[in-house]
Amino acid sequence: MEHEDLRSLPVDEVIQKVGVSRAIGIKHVASLLFTYRCTIACKHCLFNCSPWQPDVYISHEDGVEFMRQLRATDRVIHIAGGEAMMYYQKMLAICQDANKEGCAPHFFETNASWCVNDHITQTRYEELKNAGILGVLISADPYHQEFVSPEPRIRAYKWAVEIFGEENVAASNTSYEQLSEFRDIVKNEHKLAEYSLHHVPRLVGRAGDVLTRFYNDRPLDELSEDPLWHGGHKTRDCKSEFDSQEMWEIHIDPYGNIQTCCGIIIGDAHKKPLLEWMKQGFHVENELVNMVYENGPYDYLDLAVKYGYKPKEKYPQKCNMCWEARKFLRPYFPETFGPGEIYDTEREHKKGES
Ligand code: SF4
Ligand code: SF4
Repeated sequence: MEHEDLRSLPVDEVIQKVGVSRAIGIKHVASLLFTYRCTIACKHCLFNCSPWQPDVYISHEDGVEFMRQLRATDRVIHIAGGEAMMYYQKMLAICQDANKEGCAPHFFETNASWCVNDHITQTRYEELKNAGILGVLISADPYHQEFVSPEPRIRAYKWAVEIFGEENVAASNTSYEQLSEFRDIVKNEHKLAEYSLHHVPRLVGRAGDVLTRFYNDRPLDELSEDPLWHGGHKTRDCKSEFDSQEMWEIHIDPYGNIQTCCGIIIGDAHKKPLLEWMKQGFHVENELVNMVYENGPYDYLDLAVKYGYKPKEKYPQKCNMCWEARKFLRPYFPETFGPGEIYDTEREHKKGES
């Protein structure tokens, strides 16, 4: 079946036909951000996750409820973070209870740092599979491998394929040599710059603060056709990131905040279910969301100037201009530009150095 024909099928049928890994690109994703804490602190992390973030994770009750809400979107749903495996027993219990209602996540994301031996890796994958999880996404790139050595990543992939099946593992079969090469890249400023320029991240969150040094600033007019969060249409506005049909991903965090681009809170899953927000349109109730929906981050820049921000003439990227304006505006609009974990990058850097 062609991609478009598959897209019209319910998500579970698509997964049955093509596996979790391919289904992600066909049905797109919806996730529970279990926590902003992580075992590591990747330089490109858009959500600014790290070991120094507060010990906050989703409650059991909310976790099960948000799984119900995510399932209703007919997307491929998953548990992301942060690194949810830091709270393994709590995550497992949520999956088990959600599974009783047919709402278990289809997969979870991990950096593999917990795969310290074969026993733990095999046991946890088996327990999660018994709790209804069908697959896993395992990261591998220079930013992750700065902190995660090749052995756990190799172990994570080997056991994932064994237990979930290759079609349900969204990960490359990266060799020991390639993983070691990734580590060398991140240790070398020149190589890291080259890698970053060939794999351009959105320059927000930690990436917006620590990777911008590799990019040239460009005049505002030139930024208007920059790719959006997930590529999308090259338009001045950011409609495709906030349109329920078009958006690549949608998240609910441990506080119930609904987000697509990280750091812009577009709804509250405690107030009404995610599907209702999606049907209504996220820009309808919130003027700040409407501004970026209609006119991209240029309206944020103008608003920030009204509040006293001194704009630069040039920024390296449209999303980075958005990030800089939002950081300035956050104290005035914390209910939309939040949560604190994403914006408090200075605190993160200081703790990282101590
Ligand atoms: S990118 Fe993933 S693994 Fe890296 S710090 Fe962020 S949440 Fe953790
Ligand atoms: S410019 Fe801002 S709102 Fe638009 S896609 Fe980038 S981060 Fe999201």
